[in-house]
Amino acid sequence: MPRVVLLGPPGAGKGTQAGPLAAELGVPHLSTGDLLRAAVAKATSLGAEADGYMRAGHLVPDELVLRILRARLSEPDARAGFVLDGYPRNRAQAETLAALVAVDDVLYFELPEEVLLGRLTQRRSCPRCGRVYNLSTRPPRSPGRCDVEGAELLQRSDDRPEAVRVRLATYREQTEPLLQYYAGAGLLRRLDALGSTEEVGRRLRAALRLPNV
Ligand code: AMP
Repeated sequence: MPRVVLLGPPGAGKGTQAGPLAAELGVPHLSTGDLLRAAVAKATSLGAEADGYMRAGHLVPDELVLRILRARLSEPDARAGFVLDGYPRNRAQAETLAALVAVDDVLYFELPEEVLLGRLTQRRSCPRCGRVYNLSTRPPRSPGRCDVEGAELLQRSDDRPEAVRVRLATYREQTEPLLQYYAGAGLLRRLDALGSTEEVGRRLRAALRLPNV
């Protein structure tokens, strides 16, 4: 039962790798960021509460994120395992997760901060299918439009430079210390996350000892 956590700064490519990896393992890709954005889009009361924190690049309070994660983990498909991306982001969340499930592997996506800044501010995504592009490294075929849906690509409100700075600082202060936590638990595997999606995908599979596809 693969229970994999992807850890790393925003913009390291966790979301890009999580989908294909989860499909290959036959488990769902759980992203607390995606779950929160869906709640915001649906204008649920939880979404309304989370929205302001997210726009500013701050962490959403643990209790709100836990509520949404716990609901998703209790769905039948998550019983077979999961690829979790975006959780935990601080020590309290890591301890909560450990109390809920036994994690098998934690993959740390390692990337220099100047690369992250570029990746985040150049990121655009399709509002219909969620496909993610990068204006410089992975541009859409026709400017500003999704290759598959043709929809106009959007920038996440928290990918604006002001919010990006807050997110990176929050990562350094609250999330990075989890490396020690998971190294101490013997679960941490480091991954050089610089390179093409395919290269990083190969390293990820090698780190998990999966056959390369
Ligand atoms: P992400 O898509 O993972 O970059 O998440 C986008 C935003 O959602 C973050 O900047 C936070 O505001 C919020 N968020 C996602 N996951 C968490 C979490 N585990 N704890 C607190 N806030 C979160």
